[in-house]
Amino acid sequence: MKSGRVVKVSGPLVVAEGMLGTKMYDVVYVGEMKLLGEVIELKGDKAFIQVYEDTHGLGPGDPAFGTGYPLMVELGPGLLESFFDGIQRPLDKIRILSGDFISRGIHVPGLPRDKKWTFVPCVKVGDEVVDGDIIGEVEETTLVKHKIMVPPGISGIITDIKEGAFIVDETIAKIKDSNGEQHDIQMMQKWPVRVPRPYKEKYLPEEPMFTGQRVIDSFFPIAKGGTACVPGPFGSGKTVIQHQLAKWSEAKIVVYIGCGERGNEMTDVLIEFPELKDPYSGEPLMKRTVLIANTSNMPVAAREASIYTGITIAEYFRDMGYSVALMADSTSRWAEAMREISGRLEEMPGEEGYPAYLATRVASFYERAGRVKCLSGDDREGTLSVIGAVSPPGGDLSDPVVQSTLRVVKVFWSLEDKLAFSRHFPAINWLTSYSLYRDDLRSYYEKNVAPDFYDMILESMRILEKEAELEEIVRLVGSEALSQEDQLLLETARSIREDFLHQNAFHEVDTFASIKKQYLMLKAILRLYDICKDIISKEEVTVKELRKSPVWEKIARMKYFGEQELGEIERLIKELDNEIRQPIN
Ligand code: ADP
Repeated sequence: MKSGRVVKVSGPLVVAEGMLGTKMYDVVYVGEMKLLGEVIELKGDKAFIQVYEDTHGLGPGDPAFGTGYPLMVELGPGLLESFFDGIQRPLDKIRILSGDFISRGIHVPGLPRDKKWTFVPCVKVGDEVVDGDIIGEVEETTLVKHKIMVPPGISGIITDIKEGAFIVDETIAKIKDSNGEQHDIQMMQKWPVRVPRPYKEKYLPEEPMFTGQRVIDSFFPIAKGGTACVPGPFGSGKTVIQHQLAKWSEAKIVVYIGCGERGNEMTDVLIEFPELKDPYSGEPLMKRTVLIANTSNMPVAAREASIYTGITIAEYFRDMGYSVALMADSTSRWAEAMREISGRLEEMPGEEGYPAYLATRVASFYERAGRVKCLSGDDREGTLSVIGAVSPPGGDLSDPVVQSTLRVVKVFWSLEDKLAFSRHFPAINWLTSYSLYRDDLRSYYEKNVAPDFYDMILESMRILEKEAELEEIVRLVGSEALSQEDQLLLETARSIREDFLHQNAFHEVDTFASIKKQYLMLKAILRLYDICKDIISKEEVTVKELRKSPVWEKIARMKYFGEQELGEIERLIKELDNEIRQPIN
C-alpha cells in the first residue's frame, strides 16, 4: 500500500501528496477512517481523489493509503435480491453494523461470506475450457440459475472440479493453462467497474424487447440490447412506467440504479421494489433483480460509482447468456455529480458548467449496452438493454445532459406531465417520441407478428399526425366544419389514443398486452376506419350517425380481453362490417 498525506479537502475532493506510483482510478483509502475514494487526476506526486463518503472531519496531514488496484465489484452468487450502495456495500449488512444512519469507513464485502451455495458442475477433470466457458451453476434464486464462468483471461485444462455447497471465495475448480500454471477458480470473480467486460463480438440488435406496453412495443419499440431515454417530469408517471418495465420486459435480469436527489426518493425505491411481484411466476421480482441505490449520507460523487457498479453487474449477467435490462434513474443526477467534481478540479467548464467530457462519458456508458456473442467456446448470446431516465431542470430538453444522451440512444419515450394531467397513461407523447429500431425490427414484426403490422403502425402514426394538424382548425371553427373524411379520421385518431395507446397499469388485464393482442387491437381499429371510409364515400351516412353504432363501444372494450380471449377480438374484426351497417335506432 502506498501511503501519502492529505493536503487539501474540498467536499468530496481530497488532494494527497506523496502518492508517486499511484495510477489513475486506483482506489485510495483516506484518513484514519479509511474512507473509500478513487484517483481522478494526478499531478506530480499529488493525487486528486474523489471520495465516496462524507469527508467532514478530514483535514491536512491525515493519511491516504493507495491500494494500487482500481474500484472493483464482486461478481458471483448473492447479487440477486441484494440492495447495494454505489460501492457495492450491501445496505442491509451495513445497516446492521452501523444503524440506520450509516457511519463512514465501513468495509463490507459485496457478496456474503457466510452463505454456502450449492454448486453443480457441468465439466469434468481433463476437459479443456476457455475464458467465459460455463463450468457449472448455482440455483441462486428460484427464478435464476447463476452460471459460474471461467474468468476472462484464463484458459486451459480442468485439473480439479468440486461439487457441493461452498462459499463464494472457496476454490471450486482448478485450471492448468498452456504454460503449466495452475489457476484456482472460485464462484466469485472481481472486475474493475470502469472497464467494460469483454465479449467476442457485438451484433446489431434485431429482436424487440417486448414490454407488454402498447405504446412502446407497437409504436416506439426498444430492441434487446438497445438503449432508450425517458425524461420524467414530476407526476408524469415515471415511477409507474419503470415498475411496468421492470415487471414485464422480456428480460431475465433487472438491474436498477437509483441515483436520487434526496434520500427519501431512494427510500421509496427500497420500499417499493421488494413489493413488486414477478407477473410470470408470482414470486417477488427481487428474485431476479439487483438494486443499487445511493444512501442519503453519501456525497453526490458516489453517483458516479453507482452507475459503473450497476452496469458492470449487468454485463456479468449478460455474459451468462441472459437478457438483462438496466434502468438508471436519473442519469442527470450522475451528470451533476460530474459537474461538481469537475468544478472542484477547476477544469474548464463546458455548456451549463458541465465538463467538456460529459458527452464522452454518457456515450461510453450507453455503449456498454448491446447484443453480444459472449466469450466462451459455445456461441451463446447475451443482451444488455439500457434505459436511462433524465430529469432536466424545468423539463428543458435542450439541457446538455439530455442532448448528449439523445445523441447516443436510439429510443426516446417522451413522458409528459401535460398528458398525465389529462389522465392519458402511459403519458408518452406519440408525436415527439421516436424509436430508431422500428425499421431494424420491421422484418421481425412482419415475420413473427403479421405481414401487415409494420404498415399498420405507420398508418396509425399518420392518422395521429394528421389529427394534430387538424387540431387548430377544430379549435377555431369546430369539427363540424371538417369534411366527413376528416371527421372520420379524428374519430379514428381518438380511438387509437383512447382504445389503444391508453393503458391502465393498475388494471389486472390491461396492465400487459402481448404483441399478438396489440396487433389485433390495432387491426380492429384500422379495419373499422377502412369500412367507415368506404361507407361515407358511397352512402349518405354521416360520421355522426356511424358513431352511434355500439361497435365503437366494443372496440373500447378490447383492452379488457385476456390473453386467452383473443379469439373474441378476431371475431369482432370479422363482424365489424356487418355490425356498423346495422340500422341504428
Ligand atoms: P412520477 O414518478 O413521475 O412522479 P408516478 O409514476 O408516481 O409519477 O405516477 C403518478 C400517478 O399517475 C400514479 O399514482 C398513478 O395514479 C398515475 N399513473 C401513472 N402511470 C399510470 C398508468 N400507466 N396507468 C394508470 N395510472 C397511472
